[in-house]
Amino acid sequence: MTSTQEPTTDDPGAAAGDIASGTHPSTHDGVDPATIPGIVAGVRQAADSGRTRPLQWRRRQLDGLITMLRRSGDELVEALARDFAKPRLEAHYTDIRFTLDEVRLLRRNLERWTRPRRAKLRLLDQPGKAWVVPEPLGMSLVIAPWNYPVQLTVSPLAASLAAGNAVVVKPSELAPETTAVLARLLREHLDSEAVAVLEGGPEVSTALLEEDFDHIFFTGSTTVGRIVAQAAARNLTPTILELGGKSPAIVTDDADLDLAAKRITWGRFLNAGQTCIAPDYVLVSPHRRDQLVERIVDVIRTHYGTNPLSSPDLAAVVNERHLARLRGLLTDHGGVIATGGNHDAVTRRFAPTVVVDPTPDSALMADEIFGPILPVLSVEDLDAAIRFVNDRPKPLALYVFGEDETGIDRVVARTSSGGVCVNHVMFQVAPPELPFGGVGNSGWGRYHGRAGLEALSNMKPVYKRAVKPDISLIYPPYTRLKERLLSM
Ligand code: NAD
Repeated sequence: MTSTQEPTTDDPGAAAGDIASGTHPSTHDGVDPATIPGIVAGVRQAADSGRTRPLQWRRRQLDGLITMLRRSGDELVEALARDFAKPRLEAHYTDIRFTLDEVRLLRRNLERWTRPRRAKLRLLDQPGKAWVVPEPLGMSLVIAPWNYPVQLTVSPLAASLAAGNAVVVKPSELAPETTAVLARLLREHLDSEAVAVLEGGPEVSTALLEEDFDHIFFTGSTTVGRIVAQAAARNLTPTILELGGKSPAIVTDDADLDLAAKRITWGRFLNAGQTCIAPDYVLVSPHRRDQLVERIVDVIRTHYGTNPLSSPDLAAVVNERHLARLRGLLTDHGGVIATGGNHDAVTRRFAPTVVVDPTPDSALMADEIFGPILPVLSVEDLDAAIRFVNDRPKPLALYVFGEDETGIDRVVARTSSGGVCVNHVMFQVAPPELPFGGVGNSGWGRYHGRAGLEALSNMKPVYKRAVKPDISLIYPPYTRLKERLLSM
């Protein structure tokens, strides 16, 4: 496993466009990688012993997570504020409440979703019975990112536990305060023989990826996702890769501009733009561009005041390196900055920034921005917007604003993305019945609710044939009569 050269923080150009923290120095002393084979062997033993399979064990783990989130939500919210000034309300809603709802959903439906499901049989397959039984995979590995460190560690963990697996969890080193609190709480609330929480950075993930797991659930950058996929290929380990990408927002000609501006602005600058499904850039017709930009600038003022750098409602950028990377994106973009562009190096706050019509081949438009910068690009018409999206790697999310159903349907049918949300942003992740995941460069595999439980299970088909009668049509010698009967 190799990692790329560490770009220097005083060279924003070098850092621009590379958000993978595979190159980050570890900010927290993690577990000694040399001890990992022993730890993993212990968890494997627990998986092999069968202790994680009974529903009673799974219920206890999910109850443990629910108790943890209910009792210690405030402690986690405070840790999130220490890590990157995450506003209280945002932290409660996106990291605690959202995660609690997900774990409760799994807990409520555990029995129903793990029950064998009967399958219909053709005449030829009768007399017999068939069913699909969700079987635990064994031992899974969860590697999480820093940007929603509670949600993106606990939700995959909960799906894995609900499926009856032993789990090794590696939260992110880049939210060290939250990771430390979360690791302690998980150890307190879960079966420590079957669940190991390992703190540390890429060196710990690298050592973990040397081990043989039955499933790897990775959330993070596309760059590190490739490393994980390569490591998983060695043992043919199934993976879920929840990656990033540039998620477009298309504002059609009949969209309500006030509404589009308000919702896009909210989604882009929530968590200071450090959200995998945030709208990354906006496409709009040239004749509506200025009106839209004006409204976005107004909404930014309403949400964050005239001096956003001192707004308590704006999270900080996670570290100096990302701050430098974002500064780098604001050089040579070829567009016009309508608002923002400034930052505070001490608090690491970066003002919500709107760049109008950057050149499509600038660094700003090359990779996921993952920060509080919103490019607004004018494109001739809806077909040009669709072409623009389709000329680039498939995004994790796509947003379209408009009232005309035909236009919206055209966008949905002619583009490919992990998910779509019409007339709002990011809400496609909320409904429990909707699976969440990427496509192509934005990842593969889906989770949330039942989809997660099934993805972390071996959905094993079982067919049971009646002992009698034993119909002889299929056995040689293959006579004409048998042939005729079978072809009927
Ligand atoms: P990252 O890929 O840098 O790190 C994710 C995890 O991988 C961390 O635990 C980290 O320690 C580990 N890691 C880093 N380098 C590694 C290496 N060389 N080998 C093995 N493991 C390594 O991502 P990040 O900076 O924490 O998060 C930001 C990225 O994650 C963005 O691209 C964002 O879009 C994406 N993301 C995706 C989703 C999703 O659900 N699809 C959610 C959140 C974030």
